[in-house]
Formats: sequence, structure tokens, C-alpha cells
Amino acid sequence: MNDNAIRRIVIVGGGTAGWMTAAPLAQRLAGRPTGGCEVILVESPEIGTIGVGEATLPTIRFYNAALGLDAADFARKTRASFKLGIDFQDWGHIGNRFFHGFGDFGPSLGKHPPHMYWLRMAQQFNNMPALENWSVASRMAHANKFAPPSDETPSVTDAYSYGYHFDAGLYANYLRDYAVARGARRIEGMIVDVEQHPETGFITAVKLRDGRRVEGDLFIDCSGFRGLLIEGALKAGYDDWSDQLPCNSALAVPCANAPLLTPYTRSTAKEAGWLWRIPLQHRTGNGHVYSNAFTTDETARRVLLDGLDGEALDEPRQLRFVTGRRRKSWVKNCIAIGLSAGFVEPLESTSIHLIETAVGKLIELFPDRDCRVELADEFNRALGIRYESVRDFIILHYKLTKRDDSEFWRYCANMPIPDSLRHQIELFRETGRVAILDPDGFAEPSFVAMLMGLGVVPKRYDPFVDAVAIRQVHGHFAGVRDMIRQAVERMPEHGVHIAALLQGAAAAAPAAPAARFTTPSFAR
Ligand SMILES: Cc1cc2nc3c(=O)[nH]c(=O)nc-3n(C[C@H](O)[C@H](O)[C@H](O)COP(=O)(O)OP(=O)(O)OC[C@H]3O[C@@H](n4cnc5c(N)ncnc54)[C@H](O)[C@@H]3O)c2cc1C
Repeated sequence: MNDNAIRRIVIVGGGTAGWMTAAPLAQRLAGRPTGGCEVILVESPEIGTIGVGEATLPTIRFYNAALGLDAADFARKTRASFKLGIDFQDWGHIGNRFFHGFGDFGPSLGKHPPHMYWLRMAQQFNNMPALENWSVASRMAHANKFAPPSDETPSVTDAYSYGYHFDAGLYANYLRDYAVARGARRIEGMIVDVEQHPETGFITAVKLRDGRRVEGDLFIDCSGFRGLLIEGALKAGYDDWSDQLPCNSALAVPCANAPLLTPYTRSTAKEAGWLWRIPLQHRTGNGHVYSNAFTTDETARRVLLDGLDGEALDEPRQLRFVTGRRRKSWVKNCIAIGLSAGFVEPLESTSIHLIETAVGKLIELFPDRDCRVELADEFNRALGIRYESVRDFIILHYKLTKRDDSEFWRYCANMPIPDSLRHQIELFRETGRVAILDPDGFAEPSFVAMLMGLGVVPKRYDPFVDAVAIRQVHGHFAGVRDMIRQAVERMPEHGVHIAALLQGAAAAAPAAPAARFTTPSFAR
């Protein structure tokens, strides 16, 4: 047995990040008969959690599958609905509407991506319907249908994926029960001090207000925006990205459900930000993300309440944030996961995905008690790439706007952007190629959906697609469109599928996403 092994992990914070970290660690470490490692989580009900964060990416299914969660039990306990993508309204220009679906634009004709063949068709035929017509996820969403991919319709099935919407508080509780059942220990208390080794600076214990000390070998900072350990004690520093992502405020409010339970998130651009709408089984989550440099909180509140589909169930709750990333999220024996590591606004629901990525990386690079700096460097390198690729993808949503109806949108259209993103936009505009700078981040179809949705139509296409006869390309698009239409027609309504799932009558969904969306970040 390794004398240097970690014997006790202390997780600070019991929000989504804290319990998403505790659950797989408890599953893997806490119950070991020999060489066991305690997993302790400290949280303060007095401070509470942020209480938002309800839309996810398909990669959440890798995470859930790794824990062995049953899809029906999960949906029942978290009041989950299915998410096929995001319906963007008024982004790019007022009146614009497009769908960023999870998955591809139908099965491809050959070795080249579907959008290349579509571009060739669009250059030849003036009336070529929008590429989105070949997104299975988009067709399902517009028809308000849902069924998990199944072997019966392989070509269609391989072309879409899905994530979930869920109640963030219920999900954290669900994972808490899972972790505690596997030996994790929960301590309630307010941390008032952090003790560090006088020479190494390693954290040795956290001190609670009632005088208790909680010692540990490895500390995971899931304390939210405050970054109690990573910033408070270890002064990791923070890169502020507000000049390229100017939203810094949000108002969140639940409302009564609309009659139809829709299988997608809706994002509507407004004068100084955007509204989210996230349908759950029992209510709809709503929010307004905005910049208070371009509007007032009172106006933002009115915009939010005016945009609700049903009766507000509470008073809107105000949140502030600084977009950016902790310069290092692993320092000495402390690793920041969740909001303590950084935050990019929830336009593509990436925060929970970033938690999955960080927890997956922590397991992959799990240290001994000396916490070798090489492991920390590798963690920080990998997470740095992921955060920056998410940042760039979100900036793209704003930068490509043609809106000039407010000071906010004029600022976005003219703001400087990272060179990496400029390259991605220009490459696509000129050639239709997508530069994937983070192979585990958003995949090509997501870039194509957003760039074309925002009005960037490439001037050229891949010359290799000319090798296929135009009649064959034509036949392919006509055939796939019919196949998608027929497959979607056979699917149940989203609400009907959920009801069947909760009653144990729906077909079991495959554990992991199949379609080209992102590569798994939590595949262990
Ligand atoms: C407006 C908004 C909308 C969002 N929407 C989405 C979305 O749709 N999808 C998505 O993926 N993400 C979304 N997010 C992000 C998501 O909410 C977070 O990533 C997620 O909830 C994780 O939060 P957390 O656990 O890091 O922090 P928190 O929920 O803030 O938890 C912090 C924990 O630390 C504890 N704590 C703090 N200080 C102390 C102390 N001194 N002593 C003891 N305990 C302490 C608290 O008690 C709490 O348990 C959104 C965020 C915002 C701001």
C-alpha cells in the first residue's frame, strides 16, 4: 500500500459542483475495504447554493452513466425533461430564429460533413431549404416529439443526441444521497478560517465557526463564486473576460408550466442581453442575463416578467457575476471545481459540463499526498483549453450580430475578439471548414449551426464533394429528409414519453450519447 496515498478529501461546498464531485469520488474511494479514503463535504445551509443551473449538454449522460444512475429514477427525482438543443430567437437580427440541435445534419453522403454537400446544392439551386431541415434534433424539437435514439432507425438515430433540463436543487440532493450511501460524510457548518502549512502553504484544515476543525490531505473548493480556498487562501488570481462578454447580471424566476412541455431550451435575445426558458416537469425556469452597464435592473426585471409563458411562482432573484476564469484552478493541494473555478454565462449551458470535465480530469490525474506540481500543471493546461474554447464559442453568439437597435448590440458587434475566434469565423466564411481548437469541446455541427444560424454562409465548399454526381447528392438530401420526417412522425410527444418513462413503460435510453456532438469528457 502506498504510504503517501490521500486518506481524506475535504470538499468545501454542497452545491451542484460539490455533490457532482463527491458522488464519483465516494463511488471509487470511500467504501474501499483497504486503503480507503474518506470523502467529507462541508456545506453551510446559512449561505445556501446559487440555485440555478438547470440545462445541460449531452455529456451529462456520460457522467450519470458512470455513476450507474437509472434514467427513469433520475428523471423522477430531479423532475427532468429532455433537451434536444436550443431554440435561438432574435439572435443575429430581430425576427431571426434558428435551432442549435445536438447532433449532426442527418447521416452524411460520404466522407465529408453534410453541410459541405448542402453548400454545393445551395450554390446550384436557389430554393434549397435551410440546412436545419436535416437536423434530426431540430425536426423533433419543432414537432415537440421525443424518443431516445434506438437501433430501429440507425441512420437517423446516429444523427442526434440529447441532454436534460432538471431541477438543480433536486439533482444536488439526488447526488448527495448517492454519495452518502457510498460512505461520503456531510458536515454542516460555516467555514471561517483556512489553515495552511507554514512552509509548504498546503491547506491543512478548515475551521468552522463553532470551533470544529476539519483536516484533510486534498481540498476541493466548490464554494461558488467566492472561491473560499482557491482565492481566499491561495490567491490563484482571476482572468476577467468582461470586455468580450459584457453580461454581468441575471434575474431568475420560475413560472407555471405552459400547456406543452417542450424538449428544448429557448434563448431570446433582448436589448441588453437575453432570456432563458427551461421547461421542467413541474415548472418552467426563466431568467434574464444582461449587462447592467447597458440597462437598469428594474428594466431587466420588467423584460423578464413580460416574457413569461405562465404565472410567476416567485419574486425574481438577482445574481451578479464576473465572467472569467481562475488563473490556476489547481494550486498546491487545492482544486477549484464549479463557480469557484470560473464562470461563462449559461448561453450554451456549459457550466455543468465544465464541472463534469474537471471531475473527470481530477479522477484521471488523482494525486498522492504530495500533489505533484506536474499533475496540477496538466490539470490547469487541460481545463484552460476547455474554458477558453467555451468562452470563444459564446463570444461568437454576440460578435456575429447584425442588430444595431441598442447600445449593447453595437458594442458587441464592434468589440475586439480573440484571434483564435477570428480565425474560426474567417475560415468558415471563406471555405466552410471548421477549425476545432478543442477536440473535446463543441464539435463541428455545433459551429455550423451557430455560424449559419447567425448568417455566415460560406463562400466555398470542400472541392472533394464534387466527386459525387449532383443527382446523387440531390437524391441523398431528398431521401434523408423523408426518412427524418417519417422517424419523427412515429415518435411520441415529449410529455407522453416522459410520462411513460416515469411509469417504467418507455424504452431504455442508451447510456451514452452516440451522435457527433462533443467527445466524452467523463467517460471513465
Ligand atoms: C444565472 C445563472 C444561470 C445558470 N444556468 C446554468 C445552466 O443552465 N446550465 C449550467 O450548466 N450551469 C448554469 N449555471 C451555472 C451553475 O449554476 C453552476 O455551475 C452550478 O450550480 C455549480 O455551482 P457551485 O456548486 O459551484 O456553487 P454554489 O451553488 O454557489 O454552491 C456553493 C456552496 O459552497 C458553500 N459555501 C460557501 N461558502 C461557505 C462557507 N464559508 N462555509 C461553508 N460552506 C460554504 C455553500 O453553502 C454552497 O453549498 C448558471 C449560473 C448562473 C449564475
